[in-house]
Amino acid sequence: MKFFCFLVVLCVGFNFATADPTNPTKIKVVIDAGHGGSDTGAQSNSILEKQIVADVSSQLKELCTDKNIEIILLRTGDEFMSLQDRVDKIQSLSPDLVISLHANYSKNRERNGVEVFVAENDFTMESSYFGTKILESFKRKYFKTSALQSANFFLLKNLNCPAVTIELGFLSNAEDMKYLNSEFGQKFLAQQIVSSLD
Ligand SMILES: [Zn+2]
Repeated sequence: MKFFCFLVVLCVGFNFATADPTNPTKIKVVIDAGHGGSDTGAQSNSILEKQIVADVSSQLKELCTDKNIEIILLRTGDEFMSLQDRVDKIQSLSPDLVISLHANYSKNRERNGVEVFVAENDFTMESSYFGTKILESFKRKYFKTSALQSANFFLLKNLNCPAVTIELGFLSNAEDMKYLNSEFGQKFLAQQIVSSLD
């Protein structure tokens, strides 16, 4: 509980101080669609994680066209990108936030819901601030969510800007797949992320 209060105090008044100086309220968000090319990610029958996260990324960009959020898609096609390439490209863009999109798979087909991760070394707590907002956005729509988690993921630990990894749901769970594998569902997932950036 003490930790939670500390987080709330830290987050009050936080804003995008590093946003585009010509447009101080516009924020730059890089969307990293996980996997790509020969790296398909998780798979359920013929449905591939790399395709799902690319589709949700496109929905995110479309939803932000008339907002004060500049969305940059790190992977625009179905190409393989190493994790180091992703880090290098992101660093060169100096974004205000990075959202890395993935989808889960479990042998336990009952497992479902959205998970959000931040780096273990999130000393400024900025990633945790965004991660918490994203989880709250899904919770408001009665999605199953776990508590914000920290992880030693290569991308998260090697970036020097706020970054979160979102696991959008489980390809192994029938209910989650209704969202992950439909245009309506993908748009809905993207909407929850966008609403947390407002
Ligand atoms: Zn993945």
